[in-house]
Amino acid sequence: MFWTKAFIPTLKETPKEAESLSHQLLLRAGCARMLMAGAYTYLPLGLRVLEKIQSIIRQEMNACGASELLLPALHPLELWQKTGRDQDIGEVMFKFKDRRGRNVCLGPTHEEVITDLVKNNCSTYRQLPLVLYQIQTKFRDEIRPRFGLIRACEFIMKDAYSFDQDEAGLDKNYQLMYEAYKRIFSRCGLKTLITDADSGVMGGKVSHEFMAEAPLGEDIVLVCPKCKTAKAFKEGDSPCFKCRVEMDKINTIEVGHIFKLGTKYSQALEANFSDAKGELRPVVMGCYGIGVSRLVSAIIEQNNDADGITWPGEVAPFQIMVLPLDVTNQAIMQEAQNFYNQINAAGFSCLLDDRDERAGVKFKDADLIGLPLSIVVGKKNIEEKNIELRIRKDKSTQLVPKEELVKFISKFLA
Ligand SMILES: [Zn+2]
Repeated sequence: MFWTKAFIPTLKETPKEAESLSHQLLLRAGCARMLMAGAYTYLPLGLRVLEKIQSIIRQEMNACGASELLLPALHPLELWQKTGRDQDIGEVMFKFKDRRGRNVCLGPTHEEVITDLVKNNCSTYRQLPLVLYQIQTKFRDEIRPRFGLIRACEFIMKDAYSFDQDEAGLDKNYQLMYEAYKRIFSRCGLKTLITDADSGVMGGKVSHEFMAEAPLGEDIVLVCPKCKTAKAFKEGDSPCFKCRVEMDKINTIEVGHIFKLGTKYSQALEANFSDAKGELRPVVMGCYGIGVSRLVSAIIEQNNDADGITWPGEVAPFQIMVLPLDVTNQAIMQEAQNFYNQINAAGFSCLLDDRDERAGVKFKDADLIGLPLSIVVGKKNIEEKNIELRIRKDKSTQLVPKEELVKFISKFLA
């Protein structure tokens, strides 16, 4: 992709509305724009990051044997009344009447809808276990939307649901998801703390939260400095029960939450299956969420420096930037285009900054949007045998022989 075609409106100044570092960088690096409080446009760079995250999630979910579907965002309120969650969730749910006077809502989550689907299409133990997931836009009428994508009214989530015959089956699927979540966050370049958590309005007995450390985070996690055990802070801190030392308070953002729901929803919605003896039993459920759009912000919170974002390789909007210093010089542009073609042909993604701007502006923007590697092409580079590669994370430079460019990139991004 060429910069002049890509639409990357970077900002020199920090926008006033940005309340956190990730929010500032998201706007300054031209990844997103606010339409109104809590609703964001993903610009091309932001959308590419979002798609990279979704691709990691899909790979890991499919590897667990989960199957993807897409549920509607528009729900009949009646379905929510059956579990009583229209009341539990209350004002956070967007509710309205359609032109026929029917009460409808925009889904803040999808347990009711998926349980209803499974109830109507899955009736015997032979169809179980079943794990379904979707990546979808959800809605919450937040009193105070904040921090850009972190607390928005319209956001993207991955939600998965497991359906089993019994608790043993649920335990197995829960463990698979738990391990998949660890891989997903690690591949996204995110350090998370895992805590036993309160199930809240979701119900069920067991749940774990995946919390990303971030200074703006409003969820406090207690971490033992000795054994690194993490637990949620609800009221009054206590020492680590193993080590008997005071625990550190860490600010975090919730990025994932998994629940053993049991039969709360299947009983309320009569989602039963006939077991091997022909007896009707409620399906045993688990649900597994990841805040996909929120992850973009959490990744930026953990991967930045004074000059901008430092995207981890797997989620970077492009992997390599080619930076010709003078676009009016034909030889320089020829060389830049040459690298660009080589990189694309090798299957890597590349952004070529073809703007007729001063080198200083280009270097600043390159740091701000934070692609892992950049190749600087100036007059002196053309005559040399080596390419000057700049590594964004530590700002070091490496001289690589021209014929070894693709080899170096493959090794660096591995
Ligand atoms: Zn401890």
